[in-house]
Amino acid sequence: MAQQHVAVKGLVIRQTDFGDHDRYITLLTEELGKIEVLCRGIRRKRGRLVTATSLFQYSEFTLFAGRQYQLNDAVIDTAFWSGITGNIEYYALCCYFADLANIAAVEEQTAKQILRLVLRALYALDRQHRQPQAVKAAFELRLACLLGFQPELNGCGACGETECGNWSFLLENGALICDSCRKRVGGTYFSVSQSVLHALRYIAYCPDKKEFSFAVSEQTAKQLGKICEKYLLYHMDVQCQETLGFYHSLFDMT
Ligand SMILES: [Zn+2]
Repeated sequence: MAQQHVAVKGLVIRQTDFGDHDRYITLLTEELGKIEVLCRGIRRKRGRLVTATSLFQYSEFTLFAGRQYQLNDAVIDTAFWSGITGNIEYYALCCYFADLANIAAVEEQTAKQILRLVLRALYALDRQHRQPQAVKAAFELRLACLLGFQPELNGCGACGETECGNWSFLLENGALICDSCRKRVGGTYFSVSQSVLHALRYIAYCPDKKEFSFAVSEQTAKQLGKICEKYLLYHMDVQCQETLGFYHSLFDMT
């Protein structure tokens, strides 16, 4: 079969070594969604190609497109590797984001949206040094929205009440529930303070590119983080034990 060259811009979200010198990399791309690329002999090499195909690099790839994609050339567009791997909290978080992205990026169109969300999260950490806990929560909730699980945060999901001094968040359907309805509506609840509600509404309803532009207190970050994490994992029906477990072993939120 004749091989064709294709050019794509992609973010490396996974590396899998095999044989003595070879490696598969998983890319999230604008052009093709999520793809696997065979990098023959890459582990014997040094220099530009190795750097451009490292984890969390956003690079311009030239690939041979045959029965499978094979690496021909790669040039870095935006380098995240050294900044992310140089900070253990950033690194642990980004491994978790990459894990989630790899699982969620099934449809091509969704993969492109997830790519942009991951890139903005990397940028928020590596370039803007935003609060890691806030970036984590925002990533989780925006990913949930992107996958069709947008929470309903304007009023009580059971009675429609918009004023309440003691809101709860219902995990199973992403609804706010007021104090009086909570007694009669079953489910898994999280108490929501006004500052957490404010942050949840901001993340869920702000335009793209603004989702990481906020800051919260330490206490709010903890409560917010717990809700966003549980909500996403429940609706994606995943655990991400390895990557999320690693993050929690370093930075326990409880
Ligand atoms: Zn109610």
